[in-house]
Amino acid sequence: MNKLSEAERYLLDAVKRGDEQGWPQLVERYQGRLLAFARSRVRNNSDAEDLVQEAFIGLLRGLDRFRGDSSLETYLFSILRRRIIDAHRGKARGVCLLRDTLRPGDDDSDSGPESRLPSPDPTASVYARQDEKRNEMHHALATAIDDLVSGYKDALNFRELQIIELVFYAQLKNAEVAKAVGVEAGHVATVKHRSLSRIRKHLMDMPALTSSSDADPPDALLTGVWEDHRPSCPKRSTLGAYHLGTLDPAWHGYADFHLNTLGCRFCLANMDDLKQSEDRADLDRLRQRVLQSTVGFLKKK
Ligand SMILES: [Zn+2]
Repeated sequence: MNKLSEAERYLLDAVKRGDEQGWPQLVERYQGRLLAFARSRVRNNSDAEDLVQEAFIGLLRGLDRFRGDSSLETYLFSILRRRIIDAHRGKARGVCLLRDTLRPGDDDSDSGPESRLPSPDPTASVYARQDEKRNEMHHALATAIDDLVSGYKDALNFRELQIIELVFYAQLKNAEVAKAVGVEAGHVATVKHRSLSRIRKHLMDMPALTSSSDADPPDALLTGVWEDHRPSCPKRSTLGAYHLGTLDPAWHGYADFHLNTLGCRFCLANMDDLKQSEDRADLDRLRQRVLQSTVGFLKKK
């Protein structure tokens, strides 16, 4: 499944061809949102800039391996996030503000997300391997989650989408989810169960499946795939429309939840960048206006 937009494909082709304008254009397009994300995770501004620079270098180094399984933005975010985690030995791991607020201690632990939750004997699982089968299962898992999320979005079922975001993306407990969304805890359990069965159904068809337990991936893995692929994040254009107040009410409510209740740091970084580029555009417009209105004065002298 190729997730690249036409603009992204065009930019990547230009970079691969060695087109002189390609790389500067690509950097210009993504630097703002990446820097906003790095700044939200790293206090020191020059450290944040170093990490963004490393992420761009990482993209160039792995360019041949990038197959477009995620958008270029998401791919860059995931490289950057890994750099941040490496630089801070596992700290600054969280991507949901809500989770960090509810359990502030978690982010300071040096242990990986895998250690947060018990998982069924990871050594026996296809996900613990380092081979093609594991990659296939990861890919299938990402597709399954994507299908699940698209189903909710197409049906405008944002209530259930919010519930599964809180369960899988933010890893909240059922009672916490119930409180955040304003439903009964039993309903959260039902939605979670239904979602897991749909993911399971998807994975059971995979030829790479080595045992039926592989169709029940550990929660931490679901979160990891969610963080890497961002299936529920609104598109940047949607965030832009949200910012302008031109989204229809259902989508507006959802974007608002994703940004302000869940506190998705990727999307918050995008919003910061959108607001800042708006300021820059204002300045550009103002400069043009000043120049145009002053052109006559300069000629007279
Ligand atoms: Zn998001």
